[in-house]
Amino acid sequence: MGILIKNGQVVSSKGVDLEDIFVQGEKIVKIGKSLIASDLKEEFPGEEIQIIDAKDKLIFPGFIDTHTHFDLDAGDFHTADDFYSGTKAAIAGGTTTILDFTTQEKGETLNQALDNWHKLADGKSSCDYGFHMSITDWNSDIKKEIKDMTNRGVNSYKLYMAYSNLKVNDGEIYEILKAVKDENGIVGVHCENGELIDSLIKELKSNNKNSVSLHPLSRPKEAEAEAIHRLLVIAGLVDTPVNIVHLSSKLSLEEVRCARENGQKVYVETCPQYLLLDDSVYGKDGFSAAKYVCSPPLRKEEDIEAIWKGLLNGEVQTIGTDHCSFNMSNQKTRGKDDFTKIPGGIPGTEERPVLIYHFGVTKGKITVSDMCGLLSEQPAKLFGMYPNKGTIKEGSDADIVIWNKNITRIISAKDMNSICDNTPYEDMKVTGLPEMVFLRGKLVAKERKIINEKLGKYVFRGERTDF
Ligand SMILES: [Zn+2]
Repeated sequence: MGILIKNGQVVSSKGVDLEDIFVQGEKIVKIGKSLIASDLKEEFPGEEIQIIDAKDKLIFPGFIDTHTHFDLDAGDFHTADDFYSGTKAAIAGGTTTILDFTTQEKGETLNQALDNWHKLADGKSSCDYGFHMSITDWNSDIKKEIKDMTNRGVNSYKLYMAYSNLKVNDGEIYEILKAVKDENGIVGVHCENGELIDSLIKELKSNNKNSVSLHPLSRPKEAEAEAIHRLLVIAGLVDTPVNIVHLSSKLSLEEVRCARENGQKVYVETCPQYLLLDDSVYGKDGFSAAKYVCSPPLRKEEDIEAIWKGLLNGEVQTIGTDHCSFNMSNQKTRGKDDFTKIPGGIPGTEERPVLIYHFGVTKGKITVSDMCGLLSEQPAKLFGMYPNKGTIKEGSDADIVIWNKNITRIISAKDMNSICDNTPYEDMKVTGLPEMVFLRGKLVAKERKIINEKLGKYVFRGERTDF
């Protein structure tokens, strides 16, 4: 069946246009003013046409979450959301593509790691998905596999500068950046100085104290900014762009600014938690504050302000979620007697679009076109999915969100598709609703309820577009 979406306000990163959209099969096949079903039947014969009136509604290209961790192994347990519940949460909120992180275990090849993640996601996912490859064990054999990754649709990587089981050293960062540059891939980096953090933790613990309120003190903004500085010096030497994931502070943004002034190409991702929550939450309510434990930690009001400004003036290119969900009932509690054992991470993939719409667009901090750039178009370009994804164009995948601007609701973990038992955005009042969400031409969610599940396919990513 063909679908004709009429009278919608079609959003792109450049503006908003009143257009009709005609979808056939998995693709957008025609866009224009006042399209007429009978004419379309002649031009594209053979199908019944369903007409949807989208008057007064915004039409976004399906949102892309550049940063999820579904079914992540955290020792002897896994994140609350796997690919089944996590991708349902994504489509319910209007996100039609996610990029999750595969992790190479020590001693494992990149091909094995990618196989493992396909097993977790294939056949279970309700949105389209791709994988960033986290390299944790670098050597000359692994280097040869970078080409294999290109041939398997992976062109983006992740490195950690913290966590003893994951991190790579500065020399390895240099070598990996060079190898990935040769394949025109992009490396994203978790920037925190792990050794500095280890010493701070030791110092805090030596006072025999244990409280969630110590978490932000153990991972200060300096530990992030120093790592960013070091990364950017190395990337400058290699002469390649890099992507800084989950940037959380003003000081870090200043490091990025310096590198850009020196002519470097740097991409920055932030997350809703660094735009909406501050570190005062850690000092409240005893252990229940554990739900806000994530790394980097939440920062101060001045950091929040700086990052919002960065979104408006183009210093920040993408908003991922770092969705890494742990239940308060039986998972976060692992850190009851030791704040460093609280599994770090918070959910967010389901709420991200409405949070950015409500606190960004309706509050006048960014425009609806900025939102489209940050949540759809720029991630599609950066990670090699454009123009199939991230835009409403003839020939693009029919990943479409019909957005109602007027519905207001209160966020609660209880009525979400994520099976995590908590959300840091609990009780927030937000306006905006993904009324209908289409994944490659199929209606998959309606008013946050799942209509069709498990239709997600692996996105084989190709040529990236630097911007
Ligand atoms: Zn992450």
